[in-house]
Amino acid sequence: MRIDIMTLFPDTVGAIMHESILGRAQAKGLIEIETWQIRDYTTNKQNQVDDYPYGGGHGAILQADPLFRCWEAVCDEAGAPVHTIYLSPCGKTFTQADARRLRDLGQPLVLVCGHYEGIDQRFIDECVDEEISLGDFVLTGGEIPAMAVADAVCRLVPGVLGDEECFTDESHWAGTLEYPQYSRPEVWHDLAVPKILLSGNHAAVDRWRRKQSLYRTYERRPDMYRKLRFETKQDKKLLREMEEEYGQDLDPEKLGPGQ
Ligand code: SAM
Repeated sequence: MRIDIMTLFPDTVGAIMHESILGRAQAKGLIEIETWQIRDYTTNKQNQVDDYPYGGGHGAILQADPLFRCWEAVCDEAGAPVHTIYLSPCGKTFTQADARRLRDLGQPLVLVCGHYEGIDQRFIDECVDEEISLGDFVLTGGEIPAMAVADAVCRLVPGVLGDEECFTDESHWAGTLEYPQYSRPEVWHDLAVPKILLSGNHAAVDRWRRKQSLYRTYERRPDMYRKLRFETKQDKKLLREMEEEYGQDLDPEKLGPGQ
């Protein structure tokens, strides 16, 4: 998996992308993350990359030409048709399903970080395949969203984490939030680890975790809970138990919108 990040801050982004799990995965050759300085592709003496917006308004816009020259250099080095993503608050909100889709694309990903008031629309029209947002808020630059996307995609590449269960057992993989986790010591600040986790009974632990995960999803993310389907015998039994505890019907198919 190859990811190229076009940015005005390649050293900062590169340093973070080479830490810890992603750094080790790069050392093993499982993934490759390159950063590119957009400023290196200007044709003026001052290496200026921005200018005033046509039509007036405040702030500056990253110009199309340095972006395009930088993108061409990235494409040459990637050596394969690339999939270009502009990180933008106007894009579709990024999800775990997108991380999986981008991992499975089989193409090098080019992540373009905007700055100032954004980038010239003509670069987007000519070179960008999709726009991705990190959420409904505005940051000063696309670096944090680009690092978030790169991290989320790379950790799904086989071999980057210990084994597949590291991510298939986590929040958002199968439409639920993760159960609570505990580590040593058994008692901390008078708070004890739930007894079941010390029982050594793996089936009972799995069942407890599944139920906690369903509780959390129901309470914190009703939008996700409504999409769940209780199909296995164990899930149906857990649903009945939860309904008894809450004293109400909790079958997602019967819950009305917004409940
Ligand atoms: N004027 C733009 C608007 O109103 O949509 C916001 C520009 S923002 C200050 C500068 C850059 O930060 C953007 O070009 C984009 O790359 C990045 N950015 C800001 N918020 C983002 C978000 N929620 N998701 C992804 N990128 C974001």
